[in-house]
Amino acid sequence: MKPPYEDTLLHEKLKEYFGFSSFKGNQEAVIRNVLAGRDTFVLMPTGGGKSLCYQLPALLMEGVAIVISPLIALMKNQVDAMRTFSTESGIAHFLNSSLNKSAVAQVRNDVLAGKTKLLYFAPESLTKEDNVAFLRKIKVSFYAIDEAHCISEWGHDFRPEYRRIRPIINEIGHAPLIALTATATPKVQLDIQKNLGMSEASVFRSSFNRPNLYYEIRPKNDVDRDIIRFIKQNEGKSGIVYCLSRKKVEELTELLIANGIRALAYHAGMDAQTRARNQDDFLMERVEVIVATIAFGMGIDKPDVRYVIHYDIPKSLEGYYQETGRAGRDGGEGHCLTFYSYKDIQKLEKFMQGKPIAEQEIGKLLLLETVSYAESSMCRRKTLLHYFGEDYTEDNCGNCDNCRNPKPRIDARASLKTALEALRDIGDKFKSDYLINVLTGKTTALIKSYGHHKSKWFGAGAEHDQRYWGAVLRQALILGLVDKNIENYGLISVNAKGEQFILMPTPVTITLDHDYDEQERESDSVVPVGKGGAADEELFSMLKDLRKKVAKKHGLPPFVVFQDPSLEDMSVQYPVTLEELQNITGVGVGKARRFGEEFVRLIKAYVEEKEIIRPQDMIVKSVGSKSGSKIFIIQSIDRKMDFEDIARAKDLDFDELLTEIEAIVNSGTRLDISYYIREFMDEDKADDIYLYFREDAQSDSLDEAIEELGADYTEEEIRLVRIKFICEQGN
Ligand code: ADP
Ligand code: MG
Ligand code: ZN
Repeated sequence: MKPPYEDTLLHEKLKEYFGFSSFKGNQEAVIRNVLAGRDTFVLMPTGGGKSLCYQLPALLMEGVAIVISPLIALMKNQVDAMRTFSTESGIAHFLNSSLNKSAVAQVRNDVLAGKTKLLYFAPESLTKEDNVAFLRKIKVSFYAIDEAHCISEWGHDFRPEYRRIRPIINEIGHAPLIALTATATPKVQLDIQKNLGMSEASVFRSSFNRPNLYYEIRPKNDVDRDIIRFIKQNEGKSGIVYCLSRKKVEELTELLIANGIRALAYHAGMDAQTRARNQDDFLMERVEVIVATIAFGMGIDKPDVRYVIHYDIPKSLEGYYQETGRAGRDGGEGHCLTFYSYKDIQKLEKFMQGKPIAEQEIGKLLLLETVSYAESSMCRRKTLLHYFGEDYTEDNCGNCDNCRNPKPRIDARASLKTALEALRDIGDKFKSDYLINVLTGKTTALIKSYGHHKSKWFGAGAEHDQRYWGAVLRQALILGLVDKNIENYGLISVNAKGEQFILMPTPVTITLDHDYDEQERESDSVVPVGKGGAADEELFSMLKDLRKKVAKKHGLPPFVVFQDPSLEDMSVQYPVTLEELQNITGVGVGKARRFGEEFVRLIKAYVEEKEIIRPQDMIVKSVGSKSGSKIFIIQSIDRKMDFEDIARAKDLDFDELLTEIEAIVNSGTRLDISYYIREFMDEDKADDIYLYFREDAQSDSLDEAIEELGADYTEEEIRLVRIKFICEQGN
């Protein structure tokens, strides 16, 4: 059969509408399939170019394409983008709850007038009766279901409304379907096809491998410090840190800021405006790091995110793949770092307890896959891709922690044979953990009820522990000797290739799993700062002398250079580089650059001369518990908000607000409050106070200042100017 569109014509249209000179990946094949009127199923990783797979055919085919997509924001972006491709602004529209009556009427007019080629819906709007009635009147070219994994409870983003798509389509009228998703395990794929009634669809599956992503799992011992260090080592690069709870997001953001990192928070509990602004600040690189719940990231298209950190283990590998997938979209560096502790898994299981049993079961199985991924010392890439039904055959991917630091391999030929034989005998009604319990001889109620505690396999592998058998079974799955039942998820059985192996075992080696929790060392996770008193009195007094000298050189009072707690901290921590100096209490980037050089030089010489062994690890600045408002204050001042408004928003009186600001400034953060002083203070007065601190002050004491300056100046005025002064001269 002659293709309905000649090669050249399709390429011309691609160029004409979208300005691209060639198709990406499977796009062309997919588009031809849609144009031929066949049902089409597209599995393509995020960024692969799924939208074009329905946008281009929609423009070429007769009638209107109905596009179903879960998020209003995504829809709006796409419609805006489509309009730029065409001179006809009615070419694409969306119909959702955000439109008023007249806007809806406009859309319908355009559709009826034949101007519209794509009509976007959220599933809940599609199911509305008057929309259905309207759509019955028009010619639908095809239905596109984007983010189709939302149909499946086994996906990471189940939306019950998606289940109603098929019945509604039946009501509206028959037309071909195209379903698209970036996450489909074989299980999810089956669900989607079944639910949409498109089992016969042509399936186009792209590889989900992202060769540039580096996957790493670390034990979660001292996670705050590890994250701070990681971010500092990657200074200037954009990164995302995912946490499971909003509370953790807020805490960590604060901790990062206290440690001199430009970070912002993002979670669904924040108001829409703040969220949009923080997202924007991240996209525009006004901040380096966004700390977020998984609410952040859908539709974010920042190509140069250089790392994605999971503070907590994700609930499923689908989620993990999606979230890590936001790193390195431009094909450049993308470091995916996850902190793992089995305790987190137990916490997650506890959270599930309130949910319906069926949902709990699913949740647990998905979680189990994550545990298996995390603990395995097999290639991460291989494990991940296998999970998505893809066979990755390289022995060493060279770009994951397990491949870069391989564990010694041990011969597992005999064990594998034992496991397969045992599985064959007990049958195909059980999950891996059941088989492992049988092999290790662990009597459970379930095993008793099936009588397998009397089987010859019971305890047949007792010389090894559960972890060992877990690794053996995982190997069997990866080698394709054992199948996982997709319909009844998680049940395993020996397949033909496995039978073959039992008859004629071939050499097989495995690596034992990581035991992250065993690696957990006793650690003082966050070292409190400002413990008071200098440990090294000699150094402390040398530093004080130096401070005097430096202050003189700059024509500044010594307290502006560094305050005493900073010098004390230096004589405990012995920072010898500017980088390390920034971890000293009260020292931010600005201060370190401005005055730090001579101090670290002195300390370095001192350390060398005295052969001092320095505390090895970086010191993390902790944040006080009452500082929930700190970030808010910093951000508000950055945005030049009125102090009264800031105080009101945080339920502080003005005096308390100033105290908070002073604390922020004294810990080395630079704030620019001149906008406020300009507006609310007499300029001459402000200059007088400034001059006092600049020329006369012996210390930053407020009482002394009040005494010296006299009654013409209020305490508040003096404090305000002092803040400005410390920021400009010191921080
Ligand atoms: P997905 O929905 O699969 O995540 P998108 O449809 O959003 O991906 O496309 C991702 C990016 O790829 C977009 O910036 C899009 O403009 C671009 N793109 C799509 N097709 C092509 C192509 N044929 N050539 C170049 N860029 C393309
Ligand atoms: Mg998309
Ligand atoms: Zn690897």
